[in-house]
Amino acid sequence: MYRIVARSFGGSKRFLHKGFCSTAGQQASNFTACQSSHSHEQNGKPSLSSDPKQCDVAIVGGGMVGMALACSLATSPLTEKLNVVIIDSNPALQNKNLINSDDPPDARVSTVTPATISFFKDVGAWDYVEQHRHAYFDTMQVWDYTGLGYTRYKARDVNKEVLGCVVENKVLLSALLSRIQNMKTLTSIYPSKLATMKLNVSSASKEDGTVGEACPHKQLAKLELSDGSSLYTKLVVGADGGKSRVRELAGLRTTGWSYSQNAIICTVEHSKENHCAWQRFLPSGPIALLPIGDTFSNIVWTMTPKEASDFKSMTEDEFVVAVNHALDYGYGPHPGSSNIFPWLRLDAASSVNEAFEIPPKVVKLSSERMMFPLSLMHAKDYAAKRVVLVGDAAHTVHPLAGQGVNLGFGDAMALSRIISEGIAVGSDIGEVPLLKRYETDRKAANLAMMAILDGFQKAYSVDFGPLNILRAAAFHGAQYIKPLKKSIIAYASGEQKFPFFL
Ligand SMILES: Cc1cc2nc3c(=O)[nH]c(=O)nc-3n(C[C@H](O)[C@H](O)[C@H](O)COP(=O)(O)OP(=O)(O)OC[C@H]3O[C@@H](n4cnc5c(N)ncnc54)[C@H](O)[C@@H]3O)c2cc1C
Repeated sequence: MYRIVARSFGGSKRFLHKGFCSTAGQQASNFTACQSSHSHEQNGKPSLSSDPKQCDVAIVGGGMVGMALACSLATSPLTEKLNVVIIDSNPALQNKNLINSDDPPDARVSTVTPATISFFKDVGAWDYVEQHRHAYFDTMQVWDYTGLGYTRYKARDVNKEVLGCVVENKVLLSALLSRIQNMKTLTSIYPSKLATMKLNVSSASKEDGTVGEACPHKQLAKLELSDGSSLYTKLVVGADGGKSRVRELAGLRTTGWSYSQNAIICTVEHSKENHCAWQRFLPSGPIALLPIGDTFSNIVWTMTPKEASDFKSMTEDEFVVAVNHALDYGYGPHPGSSNIFPWLRLDAASSVNEAFEIPPKVVKLSSERMMFPLSLMHAKDYAAKRVVLVGDAAHTVHPLAGQGVNLGFGDAMALSRIISEGIAVGSDIGEVPLLKRYETDRKAANLAMMAILDGFQKAYSVDFGPLNILRAAAFHGAQYIKPLKKSIIAYASGEQKFPFFL
């Protein structure tokens, strides 16, 4: 086990027993006593022994969302003394220096919203991002292949300096990891995988007192890991992605569908720097060109699975030609600047007179091309006794608006806040009524965004004359109606929880 916190867990049996049984509402000093005895050292590295051990919160999955939750818990006054364990076998979590600034940007990037940036600032992880490659953008242009309309958004439309920032996923993960490493917390990382889980078990009294019969919280969750070790916890957080094992073992059912679309992602290079986020809807799906710093941009190109495997296997030169074609005159004309719906020009937002621009030419492919199948998935329940889901474990969305991990960070923020509120009033943090408050808060926001993204995906999947005109009207509305434009920007930025019509 790689333990990120230099704190001794060699506590006495009595101390452990007492600590673990302290109620969640007790003061932070009591939470210090909830330290587990999981610091057995093996080959110089701490590890779980085969005896069951204990913690307050077990986060299964140390991806961006799981790490964000751990970071938020470690930096909030009421939760900073919780004994938090992150279970993930990803070797990146054991490598202190994930980033080599000489490498071209990784193809896996996220467009993070101003709300996410604020969250990272609040937990003290944004400084790290700013010290590594990232690209703020203050302009966004969206158009489609019919040539009937376009819309350009400016940060100044909502009196902001930026609309968002594009960051490599590994930089976001390292920022959170580094922040936790640099704090005195009780957060540990186990390089293992969840194998099985029993929720609400009566934990037997152990001779070493790790889980005692006298404990008022003896109904705990028990996790068994792939390395044969096991762990008792008050709360299991499933942050283990779209194929969540936690969700499956907890019997939390999902709804959803495959989009029969794949996304190709890669890094490309231009001859000069790009500062705008571009997105063009093509007959098979959108192509996005996102700045990622220096002269690099990231491509997220959605298409049919057959096209995706063809585009992935074509030569690099052919691919560059295909990208430039798709972002320029390919599939249809540029939108004209004439307004085919003059009655829609109700008000003039500051970017209203911005002319359509052609994105900068791509000159080189700078990374491998990676392919991801796309689907929508939503868990019917996010919470049950002693278990809760966050991030892609609870919901996966189409990447067309770059919202997936932003929704996950919203979950992490909300769950951390609800756990604090539970502790403040002395609740057991694994109890259903508390966890359902988190579910109610996040479900409404996540479902609203999912419905909008799914609507966009469907509206742009059909090439049909009247529908094309409707889409053009939508573009013009989004371009020329100031309140609508402002509302769209505020909602996409994460600053407004629901779209204007909800
Ligand atoms: C092409 C594409 C582009 C995207 N672009 C954007 C974007 O621009 N902006 C945006 O907001 N979102 C974007 N997304 C979505 C975003 O990538 C996901 O929402 C995000 O990665 C989810 O993070 P997560 O931590 O919830 O899950 P994951 O990133 O899937 O992490 C899950 C973690 O759990 C671990 N794990 C799995 N099983 C187990 C187990 N049994 N035991 C222990 N650990 C386990 C894994 O090792 C992994 O580390 C995009 C998605 C795609 C496909």
